[in-house]
Amino acid sequence: MNMLFVWIYSRLMTERSFFILILVNCWRRFLALTYLPGHSNGQGCDAFSDRFVYKMPWIVEVCFSVLSEGGNKVMTQSNSSADVIVIGGGVVGCAVFRRFCLMGARAVLLEKGGDILSGASKANSALLHTGFDAPPDSLELACMQAGYREYLAIHQKMNLPLLETGAIVIAWNDEQFAALAGIVKVAHQNGVMDVRQIDSQEIYQREPHLSPGAMGGVIVPGESVIDPWSTPLAYLVQGVKHGGRYHFNCGVRHAGFNDGQWTLETEKGTFNARLVINCAGNHGDHVDAMWREPEFEIRPRKGQFLVYDKPAAEKITAIILPVPTAITKGVLLSKTIFGNLILGPTAEEQTDRDKAEVDEEKLKELMEKGCRLLPSLADYSVTATYAGLRPATEKKEYRILDYPEKQWITAGGIRSTGLTSALGIAAHIESLYRQNFAPLFALDPQGNFSGPPCLCCPNTSQGITPARATVGLSATANWLPAGR
Ligand SMILES: Cc1cc2nc3c(=O)[nH]c(=O)nc-3n(C[C@H](O)[C@H](O)[C@H](O)COP(=O)(O)OP(=O)(O)OC[C@H]3O[C@@H](n4cnc5c(N)ncnc54)[C@H](O)[C@@H]3O)c2cc1C
Repeated sequence: MNMLFVWIYSRLMTERSFFILILVNCWRRFLALTYLPGHSNGQGCDAFSDRFVYKMPWIVEVCFSVLSEGGNKVMTQSNSSADVIVIGGGVVGCAVFRRFCLMGARAVLLEKGGDILSGASKANSALLHTGFDAPPDSLELACMQAGYREYLAIHQKMNLPLLETGAIVIAWNDEQFAALAGIVKVAHQNGVMDVRQIDSQEIYQREPHLSPGAMGGVIVPGESVIDPWSTPLAYLVQGVKHGGRYHFNCGVRHAGFNDGQWTLETEKGTFNARLVINCAGNHGDHVDAMWREPEFEIRPRKGQFLVYDKPAAEKITAIILPVPTAITKGVLLSKTIFGNLILGPTAEEQTDRDKAEVDEEKLKELMEKGCRLLPSLADYSVTATYAGLRPATEKKEYRILDYPEKQWITAGGIRSTGLTSALGIAAHIESLYRQNFAPLFALDPQGNFSGPPCLCCPNTSQGITPARATVGLSATANWLPAGR
């Protein structure tokens, strides 16, 4: 029925309106799929829909008035050759595309799905991490902190929201309590100097609605919440404004390298470029396998979430984190940028790389866990559920690999922290290119970073909660090393 609706309208409407319709339709379908009857009185879902879904048409209108320039031109071109092709329109691909566009490259982004965020990036916890618990001296830590710093530097100019809640890691038993000092030590080693241990009295002063029994905690003032959708969209829009082009429904099926030029075969024909950057998330190893034995294997790890009605968000101030284990960071409670409260994620290995389904049993477990942390959660409706797939690999580290002789770079295994680190990954990839590759095309030495920002950048949370709200543990991020 949906498709028939879209088809009829596509005949009647302009091409731009057609895309708007598809996006709105997909969005409504997403909500319909994730709505959890039986756990809601319907009120919360209606409130969520009224305030967000039905705002979408004008939001999408704004996006596409900007994007149509980049998209439509590509469609009328005969897929001419580019300097750089970015494969994958997740948050990492969008950030890399933006960066190369700002550096003056002729960049094209190819996305297999019907829109950006067709993979891991469409469903995450939406936290902007400080890196307090990242492996010390790791590439992941460096990219996270560079990404965090750049997001703080550009978010106001790009009309992107930031909810500075801070986080508290809470110990509920002796073993977890014993781990707190180590968490502070690692945080300080990672340069996150405002992290400190607190006692149970301070926990309950800050979070009076938590269950009794918290033994102590660690406060992380810089952890924040952002909008997981507007952010990558803004990166794409800014890239398009700087001359970049994109194609959706354009999965890369084959890659061949000849005479210093890549030829990529896709559903929409052939594309050529001097440099290819593989940002294909859960299919990153498959894309590398088009021309070499991949150096890593993607092992998707699913995370399921519950979204509670907005009044539930008043029951916490900060992001409530558990003491992590060797396998998972564990289940958290957090406000969202749209004013709801989320509970999750789970951590479940699976082989399917595309299906992120919720299941009742796990959701019930999550709910019970949530009520053990915050008993009053039982009084609130669950308005939606969702799941995302982390592009994990056999190693607990990012797999950013460069092959200068083949003019190819892979950003693989960007598992649990890619929303934060995307801008940092893009900067890292730019420096790999500048340092290790013979120049393949002209780049601006400084980049056009102070050039036109994304003035009418879409911000899906605008008008829903304040674009910037400071609560409790406001951080200045003075601890971050100075960067560009
Ligand atoms: C449950 C969960 C919670 C998380 N919480 C956080 C958090 O709080 N903070 C944080 O910073 N990060 C978080 N993350 C991590 C973050 O979401 C990921 O690291 C990030 O989304 C990975 O982005 P990506 O661009 O590498 O991959 P993806 O988003 O998967 O993008 C890859 C894209 O490539 C496309 N593609 C694949 N194959 C092809 C092909 N052959 N041709 C063209 N296109 C192709 C796909 O369709 C997809 O759109 C979380 C992740 C999950 C799942």
